[in-house]
Amino acid sequence: MKWMEQELETLAAESLERSLREGVPLQGSPGCIRQGEQAKLNLSSNDYLGLAGHPAIAETIRRELLREGTGSGASRLVTGNASAYTRLEEELASWQQSESALVFANGYMANTGVIRALAGRSDVVFSDQLNHASIVDGIVLSRAEHARYRHNDMSHLRSLLYKYRDRPRKLIVTDAVFSMDGDCAPLRELAELKQEYGAMLMVDEAHSGGIYGTQGEGLCHKLGIKDCVDIHMGTFSKSFGVYGAYICGSRTLIRWLVNHARPLIYSTALPPALVAGISTALHLVQAEHERRERLWDSVKLFRSLLDSAGFSIGSGDSPIVPLLVGDNAKALRFSNALATQGIAAVAIRPPTVPAGTARIRFSLSASHTVKELAEAAGVIRRTGLETGVLRA
Ligand code: PMP
Repeated sequence: MKWMEQELETLAAESLERSLREGVPLQGSPGCIRQGEQAKLNLSSNDYLGLAGHPAIAETIRRELLREGTGSGASRLVTGNASAYTRLEEELASWQQSESALVFANGYMANTGVIRALAGRSDVVFSDQLNHASIVDGIVLSRAEHARYRHNDMSHLRSLLYKYRDRPRKLIVTDAVFSMDGDCAPLRELAELKQEYGAMLMVDEAHSGGIYGTQGEGLCHKLGIKDCVDIHMGTFSKSFGVYGAYICGSRTLIRWLVNHARPLIYSTALPPALVAGISTALHLVQAEHERRERLWDSVKLFRSLLDSAGFSIGSGDSPIVPLLVGDNAKALRFSNALATQGIAAVAIRPPTVPAGTARIRFSLSASHTVKELAEAAGVIRRTGLETGVLRA
């Protein structure tokens, strides 16, 4: 195992080593965590609507745990398909106005399982260069041709669609909101291209489900293109404050996935209590509009504060706010300096983002108050000056 130690040393020397750090939600202070002895404002969580600490979700899970037990005991295709699944999938299909829905254990398994189920050796998957790692891994598993197009570059995608026009099956896949940049995919153009070239379109709404649309249905609904999307994916681990993922689409698609999506077939079903908890979260996502309103007010405020301080934060319009640093060691110093001042904001470095684009990724939550965000922006500005990311 000597090679491992040597390679880890190299990673550490390049400020690229990752490590696990304990973080515990701070009781009575939503939007904050405790790391070691220190309480911090959590600007790195994907709990966008602040539902992760919601008592109604916890109460459903507690009640159902006592009634149904802690484990589902088997895959959904064996004996793990509790009635909570049927109820949740009916509710999901109705929320998304789709024919059918299917719950997966998490977003990573949904993406890898679905892409592998839809594309094989002679097919081609067109994927945005900045798509999430679970999409990339799904394409690798599928053994299909991986046609990566430049980020949000529709003329590049068009040229690839033309190049591979004779392939039997073509799948275009994109994040709706990109997880490390916080910008949105040009979904209307993607919908047009998929029609023109007879491709399938899959949209990952991990970072947009719960946030966009009048009932949190996602960006596809907001833009009015949901009927052009063949495979609509989202997670319950972010805005929903729980865990798990969904695919919505036609009855035929869901029937196909039940027969071909390997993570669904060969992995144990989520515990029924958790599935029941997701149903409660879905009701809250639909009903508690004020959470979305608070979140969007925070997005506007935080972005304008960082922008007027002179930081480079990209052009996104989402709760993900990347503060571009560039150099890995500098990004790490920035993040550590924020941590000592009570702000948890992680430095994102290669290979998660392209070389030379290390950044601090802030993500906002409806739990944050205006006062917390305004104070945080002041600390971030001072730290930017001290670390040389901002020039005085
Ligand atoms: N897709 C995107 C765009 C994501 O950001 C993530 C999680 N970071 C996933 C999929 C995977 O979802 P999960 O965390 O539920 O496995």
